[in-house]
Amino acid sequence: MERDLFVSVLAAVVGDAHVLTDPGMTGGYETDFTRRFGGPARAVVRPGSPEEVAAVVAACAEAGVPIVPQGGNTGLVGGGVPRNREVVLSLRRLASVERVDPVAQQVTAGAGVTLAALQRAVRSERLDFGVDFAARDAATVGGMIATNAGGERVLRYGTMRACAAGVEAVLADGSVISQLAGLPKDNTGYDLTGLLVGNEGTLGVVTRARLRLVPLLPARATALVALPSLASAVELLASLRSLRSLEMAEFMLPAGLSLVCRHTGLPAPFAAPYGAYVLVECADSTSPLDALLSVLSSVPDALVAVDAADRQRLWTYREAHTEAISAAGVAVKLDVAVPLGALPAFVEDLEGLVAGRAVMYLFGHLAEGNVHVNLLAAESPSELSEAVLRRVAAVGGSISAEHGVGAAKARWLGLSRSPASLAAMRAIKSALDPSGLLNPGVLLAD
Ligand SMILES: Cc1cc2nc3c(=O)[nH]c(=O)nc-3n(C[C@H](O)[C@H](O)[C@H](O)COP(=O)(O)OP(=O)(O)OC[C@H]3O[C@@H](n4cnc5c(N)ncnc54)[C@H](O)[C@@H]3O)c2cc1C
Repeated sequence: MERDLFVSVLAAVVGDAHVLTDPGMTGGYETDFTRRFGGPARAVVRPGSPEEVAAVVAACAEAGVPIVPQGGNTGLVGGGVPRNREVVLSLRRLASVERVDPVAQQVTAGAGVTLAALQRAVRSERLDFGVDFAARDAATVGGMIATNAGGERVLRYGTMRACAAGVEAVLADGSVISQLAGLPKDNTGYDLTGLLVGNEGTLGVVTRARLRLVPLLPARATALVALPSLASAVELLASLRSLRSLEMAEFMLPAGLSLVCRHTGLPAPFAAPYGAYVLVECADSTSPLDALLSVLSSVPDALVAVDAADRQRLWTYREAHTEAISAAGVAVKLDVAVPLGALPAFVEDLEGLVAGRAVMYLFGHLAEGNVHVNLLAAESPSELSEAVLRRVAAVGGSISAEHGVGAAKARWLGLSRSPASLAAMRAIKSALDPSGLLNPGVLLAD
């Protein structure tokens, strides 16, 4: 078969070995984790340095070829996989972590560094990274910046936006912007780092990031708490907030917990089922266990981890949800956030809405009112998704809490953004990417 001439242009930049066109090699880059999104790529290109990224993007700009940036491909909204034979720009080879600066408590990491590799590098210096979540072995710094990833410790450390001190990125014309000094004070105009965090690969390709670190806290206390209802979980959160050491409050419901037990072979954690469960973790320089136990003194039941194996088991009840649901089928995933006061009634309302139309599993990050809605065997997925997202908007929530809008929810962005905000976003997009070559169809619908 004749070789696509543009592929030869890319190969001249990154070397033959790093331009993949053989379907046997490209498959893993063309379908996402959910198995709902993806398609064939024109080519997968794997640059090995920021300079090569800039040269690839410049070549695409010159030829008018659209690009889909991709990190670990753990995204859940179809934003990192091709839809119309775009070039997939894989950043995974930008995998170096520079020297940790213990005084500034910062580090510069390449876009392709995985969260787990970042954690290993900074923990060896007795520091830690604030953002953490289950996809840590594959999710990359670039993808986390691009999606403004959140995860399990947002209540203490914020999302990626709070943890990113600066970024280096290649813009759609191949030019490079770089803010890696990590200055805590720098009021020299528009916050381009803030703009690139959450851009979902539509405004620029992140090549490196300057990241804020936090002290590594050696003492942890973890408990799985059983409660009669989600309303009582929200009440418990109010008491938990009095703990300075509180780091994590994740909620689960009985259906999801049973599915996880079946999938993992773990025993049911409590002798009888309860209405809701909260996984709580506190961390400090000295043991936060007594303080945690005093807040939990009046809950109906709780399991408290006494060692690392226990802790891992309690975490698995929560972290295996995504994997267990994926093993049960191809799920429609809607990651939403609602005001905490509205959370229990919202979930009840959703159960009524979905009954008989899909099998639903809900879990999420309690403190942010962040609900991961998973719908299996949905009759009419698009209609049901829209109905759910309209209920979110009706209670003043967000149709995308932490996974991004991607291709999955672009058509519904107007439920969470006013016409004036959408117009401002489109103006930014056309100023930075006038030909619309960066991730077309993602975030802003065509
Ligand atoms: C089991 C599991 C648990 C998860 N838990 C959470 C969670 O708790 N919290 C959470 O926020 N997310 C979670 N996610 C979703 C996902 O891991 C995050 O969205 C993550 O940030 C994606 O990183 P990635 O490197 O895999 O990006 P990809 O999936 O490769 O890409 C995601 C998006 O970012 C863009 N992108 C990727 N790299 C770059 C770059 N260098 N420059 C510009 N754009 C880029 C892509 O174009 C795409 O739009 C979970 C996913 C799984 C599978």
